[in-house]
Amino acid sequence: MLATETLLPDDVGIARACEVLAGGGLVAFPTETVYGLGADARDDMAVARIFDAKGRPRFNPLIVHVASPERAKHYVEWSDMADRMARAFWPGPLTLVLPLRDGHGLSPLVTAGLPTLAIRVPTHPLASELLNRYDGPLAAPSANPSGRISPTSAGHVLDGLKGRIEAVLDGGPCEVGVESTILGLAGEPTLLRPGGIPAEEIEAVLNAPLRLQADTDALTAPGQMSSHYAPGAPVRLNATSRENGELLLGFGHMDCDLNLSERGNLTEAAANLFRALHDLDAQNAPAIAVAPIPDIGLGRAINDRLRRAAAPRT
Ligand code: AMP
Ligand code: MG
Repeated sequence: MLATETLLPDDVGIARACEVLAGGGLVAFPTETVYGLGADARDDMAVARIFDAKGRPRFNPLIVHVASPERAKHYVEWSDMADRMARAFWPGPLTLVLPLRDGHGLSPLVTAGLPTLAIRVPTHPLASELLNRYDGPLAAPSANPSGRISPTSAGHVLDGLKGRIEAVLDGGPCEVGVESTILGLAGEPTLLRPGGIPAEEIEAVLNAPLRLQADTDALTAPGQMSSHYAPGAPVRLNATSRENGELLLGFGHMDCDLNLSERGNLTEAAANLFRALHDLDAQNAPAIAVAPIPDIGLGRAINDRLRRAAAPRT
């Protein structure tokens, strides 16, 4: 159990929030939509802890929050369309999904291994100030346990996550209370999730109708997996040794080619998962074998991901 600190929305509180984030901690903070559970998006362990704290049963990609469009350009391939949207709606509750830029430096867990990144610039003054002062990208899904209602006050955050996160920055109630609209701009402009900015307003700026993709969960369905999502080599699960030239991805103390966590720590294993799959794949293994992972806590999300990687390819 952690002693969750409640931080006031003043200089001292923001400085403390920055200190906690820089140390790999989790800080819930208000945005104009709902309270977000923030972690440094470059820090694998911190991002893994988001999934652990929320008890998320799978690794879905997270939205990264930055202080300005200039900051966003460090992480994604910018485009004319992105520029038009950012000029019209940022700061504000519009998330843009754009191709990741080379050398982005973000944890692969943030995008769940996807080649695209969901990013936005929030308009809430406290979120803005935190992002400016921290001067780093914050991954921030809603600050509630998985399956519970999104929090619109610091009290809601504490009800769900007290003892599981380092701090909550108390900025009073959120105004919008609905999540950000998600607009896919990696291909044809597509509405990936309705939210705070109405689709009509986006269409007015686009001067064209939006494609609709109502179910963003389809993204994580096995049939929708891109090659970035699954290794090129076949994957065999619950392996205790190598067979026929396989590379073995281990967990806990064992003889293997790469270990998710030598000390058998599930948060560390989650933090390493996507990079490990990518690295093994880059070695052109004929096949990848993966050691059994305990199906508890974050292990459930790891196993969900591994089952997808091992599923027959379509
Ligand atoms: P939240 O839990 O509010 O942070 O919402 C995250 C949402 O953003 C989920 O519905 C994801 O499916 C969606 N999302 C995040 N990253 C991407 C991406 N790269 N491509 C498409 N959708 C994404
Ligand atoms: Mg949520």
